[in-house]
Amino acid sequence: MAEAEQKFGREKGSVRIMAVTKTVPPEKVNAAVAEGITLLGENRVQEYLSKKDQYDNSAEVHIIGHLQTNKVKYVIDSVTMIQSVDSIKLAHEINRLAEKHGRVMDVLLEVNIGGEDSKTGISESGLMELAEETAALKNVRIRGLMAIPPIGAEEALYAQMEKLFEQLKEKDLPNAQIDTLSMGMSGDYETAVKYGSNLIRIGTGLFGARDYTKKVTEG
Ligand SMILES: *Cc1c(COP(=O)(O)O)cnc(C)c1O
Repeated sequence: MAEAEQKFGREKGSVRIMAVTKTVPPEKVNAAVAEGITLLGENRVQEYLSKKDQYDNSAEVHIIGHLQTNKVKYVIDSVTMIQSVDSIKLAHEINRLAEKHGRVMDVLLEVNIGGEDSKTGISESGLMELAEETAALKNVRIRGLMAIPPIGAEEALYAQMEKLFEQLKEKDLPNAQIDTLSMGMSGDYETAVKYGSNLIRIGTGLFGARDYTKKVTEG
Protein backbone atom coordinates (compact mmCIF):
# COMPACT_ATOMS: atom_id res chain seq x y z
CA MET A 1 0.00 0.00 0.00
CA ALA A 2 2.78 2.40 0.95
CA GLU A 3 4.46 1.56 -2.37
CA ALA A 4 1.28 2.30 -4.30
CA GLU A 5 0.89 5.64 -2.54
CA GLN A 6 4.43 6.58 -3.43
CA LYS A 7 4.18 5.34 -7.00
CA PHE A 8 1.12 7.46 -7.74
CA GLY A 9 2.15 10.56 -5.88
CA ARG A 10 -0.31 10.13 -3.06
CA GLU A 11 0.48 11.38 0.39
CA LYS A 12 1.87 8.73 2.71
CA GLY A 13 -0.88 7.21 4.85
CA SER A 14 -3.66 8.99 2.93
CA VAL A 15 -5.34 5.78 1.80
CA ARG A 16 -7.18 3.91 4.50
CA ILE A 17 -7.19 0.12 4.52
CA MET A 18 -10.37 -1.71 5.44
CA ALA A 19 -10.30 -5.39 6.36
CA VAL A 20 -13.23 -7.15 4.68
CA THR A 21 -14.38 -9.86 7.05
CA LYS A 22 -16.78 -12.05 5.08
CA THR A 23 -16.30 -15.73 5.97
CA VAL A 24 -13.47 -14.80 8.34
CA PRO A 25 -13.88 -16.07 11.92
CA PRO A 26 -13.90 -13.41 14.65
CA GLU A 27 -10.59 -14.56 16.19
CA LYS A 28 -8.86 -13.90 12.90
CA VAL A 29 -10.57 -10.53 12.59
CA ASN A 30 -9.41 -9.61 16.08
CA ALA A 31 -5.88 -10.70 15.17
CA ALA A 32 -5.95 -8.24 12.24
CA VAL A 33 -7.15 -5.49 14.57
CA ALA A 34 -4.35 -6.32 17.00
CA GLU A 35 -1.94 -5.82 14.09
CA GLY A 36 -3.23 -2.32 13.48
CA ILE A 37 -6.37 -2.59 11.35
CA THR A 38 -8.82 0.12 12.45
CA LEU A 39 -11.67 -0.46 10.01
CA LEU A 40 -13.77 -3.53 9.24
CA GLY A 41 -16.09 -4.04 6.28
CA GLU A 42 -19.19 -6.19 6.61
CA ASN A 43 -21.11 -7.56 3.64
CA ARG A 44 -23.86 -9.55 5.18
CA VAL A 45 -25.94 -8.35 8.09
CA GLN A 46 -26.73 -11.86 9.27
CA GLU A 47 -23.09 -12.86 9.40
CA TYR A 48 -22.12 -9.58 11.05
CA LEU A 49 -24.71 -10.02 13.78
CA SER A 50 -23.48 -13.53 14.48
CA LYS A 51 -19.90 -12.31 14.91
CA LYS A 52 -20.05 -8.79 16.27
CA ASP A 53 -20.26 -9.68 19.96
CA GLN A 54 -16.98 -11.54 19.61
CA TYR A 55 -15.18 -8.61 18.01
CA ASP A 56 -13.05 -6.57 20.32
CA ASN A 57 -14.58 -3.15 19.91
CA SER A 58 -11.61 -1.07 18.93
CA ALA A 59 -12.22 -1.05 15.17
CA GLU A 60 -14.89 0.88 13.31
CA VAL A 61 -17.37 -1.10 11.22
CA HIS A 62 -18.78 -0.10 7.84
CA ILE A 63 -21.52 -1.90 5.94
CA ILE A 64 -20.27 -2.57 2.39
CA GLY A 65 -22.77 -5.13 1.09
CA HIS A 66 -26.22 -4.60 -0.36
CA LEU A 67 -28.50 -3.57 2.49
CA GLN A 68 -32.20 -4.30 2.47
CA THR A 69 -34.32 -1.57 4.02
CA ASN A 70 -35.79 -4.00 6.55
CA LYS A 71 -32.29 -4.78 7.88
CA VAL A 72 -31.19 -1.21 8.61
CA LYS A 73 -32.61 -1.51 12.12
CA TYR A 74 -30.07 -4.22 12.98
CA VAL A 75 -27.03 -2.09 12.19
CA ILE A 76 -28.10 1.50 12.88
CA ASP A 77 -26.55 1.52 16.33
CA SER A 78 -23.30 -0.33 15.82
CA VAL A 79 -21.77 0.81 12.53
CA THR A 80 -20.19 4.16 11.69
CA MET A 81 -20.91 4.17 7.96
CA ILE A 82 -23.13 2.54 5.37
CA GLN A 83 -21.21 2.48 2.08
CA SER A 84 -23.87 0.80 -0.02
CA VAL A 85 -26.67 3.35 -0.33
CA ASP A 86 -28.10 3.00 -3.82
CA SER A 87 -31.73 4.07 -3.55
CA ILE A 88 -33.68 6.92 -2.01
CA LYS A 89 -35.87 4.36 -0.26
CA LEU A 90 -32.85 3.01 1.63
CA ALA A 91 -31.61 6.53 2.39
CA HIS A 92 -35.03 7.41 3.84
CA GLU A 93 -35.06 4.36 6.09
CA ILE A 94 -31.53 5.09 7.34
CA ASN A 95 -32.58 8.67 8.02
CA ARG A 96 -35.74 7.60 9.85
CA LEU A 97 -33.91 5.19 12.14
CA ALA A 98 -30.91 7.48 12.66
CA GLU A 99 -33.27 10.20 13.82
CA LYS A 100 -34.97 7.76 16.16
CA HIS A 101 -31.60 6.82 17.63
CA GLY A 102 -30.50 10.43 17.92
CA ARG A 103 -27.60 10.15 15.53
CA VAL A 104 -26.42 11.12 12.08
CA MET A 105 -25.34 8.22 9.88
CA ASP A 106 -22.47 8.67 7.46
CA VAL A 107 -23.12 7.11 4.07
CA LEU A 108 -21.50 6.58 0.71
CA LEU A 109 -23.52 6.34 -2.47
CA GLU A 110 -22.67 3.12 -4.30
CA VAL A 111 -22.24 3.56 -8.04
CA ASN A 112 -22.65 0.66 -10.47
CA ILE A 113 -19.79 2.01 -12.53
CA GLY A 114 -19.57 -0.96 -14.88
CA GLY A 115 -23.30 -0.82 -15.58
CA GLU A 116 -23.51 -4.53 -14.79
CA ASP A 117 -26.97 -6.05 -14.41
CA SER A 118 -25.67 -8.43 -11.78
CA LYS A 119 -24.44 -5.68 -9.49
CA THR A 120 -26.18 -3.34 -7.12
CA GLY A 121 -25.48 0.38 -7.03
CA ILE A 122 -27.08 3.42 -8.59
CA SER A 123 -26.49 3.99 -12.29
CA GLU A 124 -24.14 6.78 -13.23
CA SER A 125 -27.03 8.69 -14.77
CA GLY A 126 -29.09 8.47 -11.59
CA LEU A 127 -26.30 9.40 -9.20
CA MET A 128 -26.64 13.16 -8.92
CA GLU A 129 -30.40 12.99 -8.41
CA LEU A 130 -29.92 10.42 -5.63
CA ALA A 131 -27.24 12.66 -4.10
CA GLU A 132 -29.55 15.67 -4.08
CA GLU A 133 -32.46 13.74 -2.61
CA THR A 134 -30.28 12.13 0.04
CA ALA A 135 -28.68 15.46 0.96
CA ALA A 136 -32.11 16.74 1.96
CA LEU A 137 -32.22 14.18 4.79
CA LYS A 138 -30.98 15.67 8.05
CA ASN A 139 -29.88 12.51 9.82
CA VAL A 140 -27.85 11.20 6.92
CA ARG A 141 -24.52 12.71 5.95
CA ILE A 142 -23.11 11.90 2.52
CA ARG A 143 -19.38 11.31 2.74
CA GLY A 144 -18.67 10.26 -0.84
CA LEU A 145 -18.84 7.34 -3.23
CA MET A 146 -18.23 3.60 -3.29
CA ALA A 147 -17.71 1.39 -6.33
CA ILE A 148 -16.82 -2.15 -7.29
CA PRO A 149 -15.42 -1.90 -10.82
CA PRO A 150 -15.89 -5.11 -12.86
CA ILE A 151 -12.98 -7.56 -12.75
CA GLY A 152 -10.44 -6.56 -15.38
CA ALA A 153 -12.14 -3.20 -15.98
CA GLU A 154 -10.27 -0.65 -18.03
CA GLU A 155 -8.71 2.26 -16.22
CA ALA A 156 -11.23 4.62 -17.79
CA LEU A 157 -13.85 3.37 -15.34
CA TYR A 158 -11.64 4.24 -12.37
CA ALA A 159 -10.97 7.64 -13.88
CA GLN A 160 -14.70 8.12 -14.32
CA MET A 161 -15.28 7.35 -10.63
CA GLU A 162 -12.68 9.93 -9.70
CA LYS A 163 -14.45 12.45 -11.91
CA LEU A 164 -17.85 11.71 -10.35
CA PHE A 165 -16.26 12.11 -6.91
CA GLU A 166 -14.91 15.55 -7.88
CA GLN A 167 -18.27 16.53 -9.35
CA LEU A 168 -20.01 15.53 -6.13
CA LYS A 169 -17.61 17.69 -4.13
CA GLU A 170 -18.33 20.66 -6.35
CA LYS A 171 -22.07 20.36 -5.83
CA ASP A 172 -21.81 21.80 -2.34
CA LEU A 173 -24.66 19.67 -1.02
CA PRO A 174 -26.22 20.29 2.40
CA ASN A 175 -25.69 17.62 5.09
CA ALA A 176 -22.63 16.41 3.24
CA GLN A 177 -18.89 16.23 3.78
CA ILE A 178 -17.48 14.72 0.63
CA ASP A 179 -14.13 13.22 1.54
CA THR A 180 -14.29 9.47 0.88
CA LEU A 181 -13.83 7.50 -2.34
CA SER A 182 -14.09 3.80 -1.49
CA MET A 183 -12.69 1.86 -4.42
CA GLY A 184 -10.21 -0.98 -4.86
CA MET A 185 -9.96 -4.53 -3.54
CA SER A 186 -7.13 -7.09 -3.37
CA GLY A 187 -6.86 -7.40 -7.14
CA ASP A 188 -7.14 -3.78 -8.19
CA TYR A 189 -6.13 -1.54 -5.31
CA GLU A 190 -3.16 -0.08 -7.17
CA THR A 191 -5.32 1.14 -10.03
CA ALA A 192 -7.82 2.50 -7.51
CA VAL A 193 -5.09 4.41 -5.67
CA LYS A 194 -3.90 5.79 -8.98
CA TYR A 195 -7.38 7.27 -9.51
CA GLY A 196 -7.97 8.91 -6.20
CA SER A 197 -9.35 6.18 -3.97
CA ASN A 198 -8.70 6.88 -0.29
CA LEU A 199 -10.32 3.77 1.13
CA ILE A 200 -9.44 0.34 -0.17
CA ARG A 201 -11.36 -2.75 0.89
CA ILE A 202 -9.15 -5.80 1.27
CA GLY A 203 -10.31 -9.35 2.05
CA THR A 204 -8.20 -12.00 0.33
CA GLY A 205 -5.03 -9.93 0.49
CA LEU A 206 -5.20 -9.89 4.28
CA PHE A 207 -6.93 -13.12 5.23
CA GLY A 208 -6.19 -15.42 2.29
CA ALA A 209 -8.73 -17.13 0.03
CA ARG A 210 -12.23 -17.33 1.43
CA ASP A 211 -13.67 -20.67 2.44
CA TYR A 212 -17.41 -20.44 1.82
CA THR A 213 -17.96 -24.07 2.83
CA LYS A 214 -17.10 -23.47 6.44
CA LYS A 215 -19.54 -21.90 8.83
CA VAL A 216 -17.87 -18.74 10.06
CA THR A 217 -19.32 -19.00 13.54
CA GLU A 218 -17.52 -22.29 14.01
CA GLY A 219 -14.22 -20.49 13.65
C1 LIG B 1 -15.40 -9.21 -0.69
C2 LIG B 1 -15.38 -7.76 -0.93
C3 LIG B 1 -14.18 -7.03 -0.94
C4 LIG B 1 -12.83 -7.67 -0.77
O1 LIG B 1 -12.50 -8.42 -1.86
P1 LIG B 1 -11.06 -9.13 -1.96
O2 LIG B 1 -10.90 -9.35 -3.41
O3 LIG B 1 -11.14 -10.39 -1.17
O4 LIG B 1 -10.06 -8.18 -1.42
C5 LIG B 1 -14.26 -5.65 -1.11
N1 LIG B 1 -15.43 -5.01 -1.26
C6 LIG B 1 -16.60 -5.67 -1.26
C7 LIG B 1 -17.87 -4.91 -1.43
C8 LIG B 1 -16.61 -7.06 -1.09
O5 LIG B 1 -17.77 -7.70 -1.10
